[in-house]
Amino acid sequence: MAIISPLREDLVFIQELPGFAGNDSNIKVQLLRLDRIHPLISGNKWYKLRYNLEAALALGAATVITFGGAYSNHLVATAAAASAAGLPSVGIVRGWHAAAPNPVLQQCAAYGMQLQIVSREEYDRKEDPAYLAALSARYSSAYIIPEGGANEAGRRGIAAIAAMIPSTITHVCVSVGSGTTFAGLRHALDPGQQLLGFAPMKGGAYLKDTIQSWLGPGPQGTWEITDRFHFGGFGKITAELRAYMADFEQAYGFPLDRVYTAKMMQGLSVLLAEAAFPAGASILAIHTGGLSGN
Ligand SMILES: *Cc1c(COP(=O)(O)O)cnc(C)c1O
Repeated sequence: MAIISPLREDLVFIQELPGFAGNDSNIKVQLLRLDRIHPLISGNKWYKLRYNLEAALALGAATVITFGGAYSNHLVATAAAASAAGLPSVGIVRGWHAAAPNPVLQQCAAYGMQLQIVSREEYDRKEDPAYLAALSARYSSAYIIPEGGANEAGRRGIAAIAAMIPSTITHVCVSVGSGTTFAGLRHALDPGQQLLGFAPMKGGAYLKDTIQSWLGPGPQGTWEITDRFHFGGFGKITAELRAYMADFEQAYGFPLDRVYTAKMMQGLSVLLAEAAFPAGASILAIHTGGLSGN
């Protein structure tokens, strides 16, 4: 059974960002407007889900279960994509103590996702095989997608994003959460294209080991993760970042999201000011969306 994509891939385009690298620079910066793909599904999320949902259908699963925090773009995307595939979904939500669900969880519920709020201790067992077995037993024939869509099927789906990137691009920039999108890009991009990941959380350099283990030992192109531009930590925002977002929107006429892409673009501005890229570089940053979180 084919899954009908709820996305508008035809609306994705590569946007010029005149002046972003400085007016007299010979470095070109462009943005892949993957944010235009869907109002709620973040640009990269569907690609991580596609082969997971195909596998769920092929295995005859009756439910899809996944994990996320109370503001997780991945939960909403799974709820929407599972609903498009005709599959009921269950979201296991990390400790959220509030009288009413937040807008993100409300959106999940609107897509028919059954939400189970669990303690942080229980949530931490999200990769423990015994816990997952007990969870599957509670639902008949469940297919479990890890947090962030971080599995082989998730990484494989990202090849479709790499295919949107012209071979003339020398450097690709992307925000990093679980690292799944990053690893999928590194697999699928031309090895000559450099890949730079921006971690929006404190101490995000730990992701290097995870990504390295996914990439394996074979030959691969250059890649790097920077965690300099976290602005206080995951989901945190500062007055400086707020001002940056307002200036960006004023200059180019569309917004960045506060959790991921604003931190990446601010970081990219700083790196350009530090002359971190060679003359003649053609940089493509990916606007992964996430705007419903703003
Ligand atoms: C989830 C998300 C990311 C991070 O993707 P990973 O594959 O988990 O690294 C980046 N940007 C946005 C807007 C997201 O929602």
